[in-house]
Amino acid sequence: MLKYFGSRLTLLIILFGCISKLQASSTPLTDYFAESWTTQDGLPHNSVNSIVQTPDGYLWFATWEGVVRYNGRRFTHFGWGTDTHLRDSGIRTLAINSKGELLAAGSRGSFARYANHQWHPMPQLDVRINQVLTNNAGELWIATNNQGLYRQTANGQLQHFDSSSGLPSQSIKALFEDNNSRIWVGTTAGLAYLDRNSFHVHTAIPDIPVVGLTEDSQGALLVASEQGLFRQSGQDFVPFYQHILSRGVSQILADNQNALWVGTVNDGLYRLHNGQIEHKGVNDGLPDSRIKALYQDREGSIWVGTNGGLVRLRKANFTTISSKSGLVGDYARTVLVTESGSILVGTSNGLSRIDNGQVSTIDIPMPNGDTPSILSLAENDQHFLLGTYSHGLLMLNKQNGQLSQMNTRDGLLANHVRSLLVASDNSLWIGTTRGLNHLTAQGIQSFDKSNGLTDDYIMAIAQDPRGGIWIGSEMGAQIIHQHKVVSLELANLDETRSVYGFHADKDGQHMWLATDRGLIRYRYTDGQTRLIGRQQGLPINKFWQVTEDNQGFFWLTSNLGMVRIPYNAAHQAADHESDKVRYRVFADGDGMQSFQANGTSSPAIAKDQQGNIWVATAKGVVRTRPEGISKLTTASLPMQMEAISVDGKTFTHNLLSPLPAQTSRIRFEFVALGYIMPQTIQYQTRLVGFDRDWISRDTDNTAEYTNLPPGDYIFEAQASYPASDAEMGVGSLRQAFSIKPAFWQRLDVILLFFVFVIVLLLILIRTREHLLRVQSQKLKQQVQEQTQALQEQAQRFARLALQDQLTGLENRRSFDSFLKSLGSQANRNVLAYVAIMDIDHFKLVNDNWSHDVGDQVIREVGRIIAAHSRPGDHAARWGGEEFSLIIKDVDETTAVEICERIRKQVASADMSHIASGVKVTLSVGIKQCDDPDNYHRTLVLADQALYHAKASGRNKVQLWRPDLPSTNIPYVSSVRKN
Ligand code: GH3
Ligand code: MG
Ligand code: MG
Repeated sequence: MLKYFGSRLTLLIILFGCISKLQASSTPLTDYFAESWTTQDGLPHNSVNSIVQTPDGYLWFATWEGVVRYNGRRFTHFGWGTDTHLRDSGIRTLAINSKGELLAAGSRGSFARYANHQWHPMPQLDVRINQVLTNNAGELWIATNNQGLYRQTANGQLQHFDSSSGLPSQSIKALFEDNNSRIWVGTTAGLAYLDRNSFHVHTAIPDIPVVGLTEDSQGALLVASEQGLFRQSGQDFVPFYQHILSRGVSQILADNQNALWVGTVNDGLYRLHNGQIEHKGVNDGLPDSRIKALYQDREGSIWVGTNGGLVRLRKANFTTISSKSGLVGDYARTVLVTESGSILVGTSNGLSRIDNGQVSTIDIPMPNGDTPSILSLAENDQHFLLGTYSHGLLMLNKQNGQLSQMNTRDGLLANHVRSLLVASDNSLWIGTTRGLNHLTAQGIQSFDKSNGLTDDYIMAIAQDPRGGIWIGSEMGAQIIHQHKVVSLELANLDETRSVYGFHADKDGQHMWLATDRGLIRYRYTDGQTRLIGRQQGLPINKFWQVTEDNQGFFWLTSNLGMVRIPYNAAHQAADHESDKVRYRVFADGDGMQSFQANGTSSPAIAKDQQGNIWVATAKGVVRTRPEGISKLTTASLPMQMEAISVDGKTFTHNLLSPLPAQTSRIRFEFVALGYIMPQTIQYQTRLVGFDRDWISRDTDNTAEYTNLPPGDYIFEAQASYPASDAEMGVGSLRQAFSIKPAFWQRLDVILLFFVFVIVLLLILIRTREHLLRVQSQKLKQQVQEQTQALQEQAQRFARLALQDQLTGLENRRSFDSFLKSLGSQANRNVLAYVAIMDIDHFKLVNDNWSHDVGDQVIREVGRIIAAHSRPGDHAARWGGEEFSLIIKDVDETTAVEICERIRKQVASADMSHIASGVKVTLSVGIKQCDDPDNYHRTLVLADQALYHAKASGRNKVQLWRPDLPSTNIPYVSSVRKN
């Protein structure tokens, strides 16, 4: 049933031990991830002569076209000119002085110092400077190309050393101060050292150009020369690694891992460590074989200046082994760790084997000379089992190298074999694109759609601890257990369909499935399934393979890189104890030449005996050492403010302070000087005085603010590498600034304005109050005036009511009330007389003259009465031609006398001015007011007296007497009326 091909097999297997095992602390050169920069990336010249990192974190490169500063994102160029004080663009050497300032020197004696964002001139010599050195004593040493050596003492004095000072050559290539503060000088004619102000040639070093000097971790001086390396040994120097490094060495660097890096004149780079020599040349990606500068930065990366560009080597999390490193093909489909510890890599172009970093090809001598494309791998006692794309199953005998093949003619469902599993009973499960074969000692058995499989396209096979065989296909997962096929219900898990990989949990309780919707955990006891996918925060849906490392992490492969999830976090997410799962993505920046892992055939992920994880990718197989990952951290990320633009004006330092009023736009460009993965550094900013919280800028290293109100601010930025589950360095910076208020924004002006407004308001209120007061005063006055007028009017009216119009005397009403008042209590004891006076025969006046003349006579008589009455007496016109007079506080005689006087005055009055011949007389009746309660009777009695006067001849005054005859008819009309 099985066809065997024997004999002419040449297997390059079982080749152990020719290379001793690497020490755990060492990182082999192949594990360093190389990146390079050339003029196309912003370098001014591809020849990088010198490299340093200043304490602020910037990296500086010297080139034939000036100095460049690198911040991980871009190069800033400094050429020759007045601003740099460099005379020529050809810069040969960079150094850092005791203050941490950069020194740059080179052709034509170019020499300048960069400090506080500015270049400053240094001692000018008219000769090429090859190297400068600041020693512990604070002296500056300047190595020239053919004028010997200069020393500038701490007090600025310049001293010159040449052959007369003991130097073997005028051309100095290297300077070094050793542990004992001894100055060593590499010349074109050997090595010299300073002793008591004169130089001595060290005879152990031949008369050859010495180009580099350094000290190793043991404190031994290392000498790089055109004839290789020499190492100090006691008082002597001995050749070092000269079997390999016999030709021109140009640079040496002792790194912080006790490794020695050696750059050569035309043979690339060597790394010496623990007796190992590793090499990196143009064939390994170095842009040029001439090494001009070596430097280790603070993150531990090795920077290499070559004649063809800049290279940075850093310990990457992943190492790619591709056709460049000897893999038989770049398209790796499957990877298997053999029982003996080898790594087998199946590619589209055959099979490779990796043993301790050494890659070899396993020749598969197909009868027709074909090179099989290998999709899956397995191993049993005798054979390596290869599932191929079109040649069915190949079985390679581990002992004798014989190859046998099994295909459709042998009962295989298809010659396209995507997955293989050797079960615990040593039977073989073969997943093809047309179903599953089970090969046992008894024969071959088939499973396909006809007998229970949901899909024929089998991509993964695994076995659980109970012996169940798990099959992954485009249509899901099925379990074959005790000859029964059971389908797994996955549609409820975000409509999961395809299952590409399995991993049996070490806890013996769970199977993990890599699917097109994420990672699924299956619990054997009750069949519970849980999905960890997008909802749990994973950035990728589709995972090809899953396995677990020895550090407690699951590793998942995908088209977009590797995802690492802490084992506990995965279980917590599956148990719904956490909403989001912690994870970390590893991609091209981590050393993978391609982050596209291969799936749809298995196994495509493997863990070797050292705990390394191997993944088949579209560009070779990649390996990571999980235990090394968290160590790839940096203590801190120095941050620098690169530029601040204020309304289009850019400040690189010395920001204008305060900024002018009404500054509308301010933009900060800052950078964290981390070079491991600068493009992934995450930034956060906060503007104290404006932002309440930190704002995530992602990888954007700028922040812009517009229309900030005037005030004091502090701009703060933070940076960190984006490693969620690793302790990576963080950095921060602060920049205080303030914006001046405009005139109208100033507090004092605003306060003044408020005061002004308040005062204005007060004035307005006061004025209004005043106006109102004036108005009300006016109104009051008006009312008063009107009231007074009214009162006067009323008084007038009142007076009029009591006055006789014709004579101006009191009228009858007035008389009556006066008379009544005499009867009041207050006047009871007042002695008074009332006289009634009537003009005699007045009718005749009217008749003989006229009514008008009569009126004037009445007025004249009234005037005479008033004129002869005393103040306090009361004269009134009683009615018609009748008058009355009340005489107070007089006795009877006086009363009569007064009336007599009035009668006489009237009788004698000349009235010719009224009318000629007019004359009148007056008759008067008098009665004492002795009956206060009945003044009417007083009047009646006065009237009776008048009657008597009339009757006795008129023009008479008659006092009432009891004996006067009484009349019933009152004489005066007024008495009648009453
Ligand atoms: P005797 O001496 O008896 O009083 O005669 P006599 O004419 O004065 O009295 P009599 O009562 O008969 O007439 C009064 C006259 O006075 C009548 C009236 O026409 C006149 N008389 C009354 N009042 C006025 C007045 O105000 N003006 C004028 N011109 N005549 C008046
Ligand atoms: Mg009369
Ligand atoms: Mg009369």
